[in-house]
Amino acid sequence: MTGTILLVEDENEIAELLRMYFEKEGFRMIHADTGEAGLERLRERDVRAVLLDIGLPGIDGIEVCRRIRASSEVPVLMLTARDSDVDKVVGLEIGADDYVTKPFSPRELVARVKAVLRRSEERPIRFQVIEVGVFRIDAGRREVAGSDGESVRPTAREFDLLWYLAEHRGLVLSRAQILEAVWGYDYFGETRTVDVHISQLRRKLEGIPIETVWGVGYRFAA
Ligand code: CA
Repeated sequence: MTGTILLVEDENEIAELLRMYFEKEGFRMIHADTGEAGLERLRERDVRAVLLDIGLPGIDGIEVCRRIRASSEVPVLMLTARDSDVDKVVGLEIGADDYVTKPFSPRELVARVKAVLRRSEERPIRFQVIEVGVFRIDAGRREVAGSDGESVRPTAREFDLLWYLAEHRGLVLSRAQILEAVWGYDYFGETRTVDVHISQLRRKLEGIPIETVWGVGYRFAA
């Protein structure tokens, strides 16, 4: 794989280490050590994915992600230091595609970036609509309309997850099954990733009939 990855990270040691790993895999990496500089690079360059640290001097990674999402669909992977950061990434609906918790293995991070890119490239064009209850899930527009008629556009990953659940409505799907189908078989992440994205969907789409099946996974009610 090739392409330019933007890394926004204030710790130079981590930046150098990641540059080594990503360049070995054929990517180009550009590095910004503040959020402001990162947003600037993103405007100037054709970037395929952003690796974004949360703890930055100046505006933090959460705010940087919000600003990216205001104008771009570029995949964003957050680098978080603590579980409480993960909760922020989830709770604030900032639109990140994935996250890893420090300390992480650079190899794992490379693999996750590749999975995100593969996903975004191989995503088939679908011109289908699934209607369930008051919800209208439009795969062509990648939008969901609810009872109030307002359209919501989830992030790319959230939409893929929603679509997978809706396509298999009525069936109980395990977290592992969901991870494999939506994130790809070579995904290294934990099943918590699924929970995180489900909770984002529930927040964005109030009343969406995704049920938790304790000890197993999830079911989209038919
Ligand atoms: Ca930092």
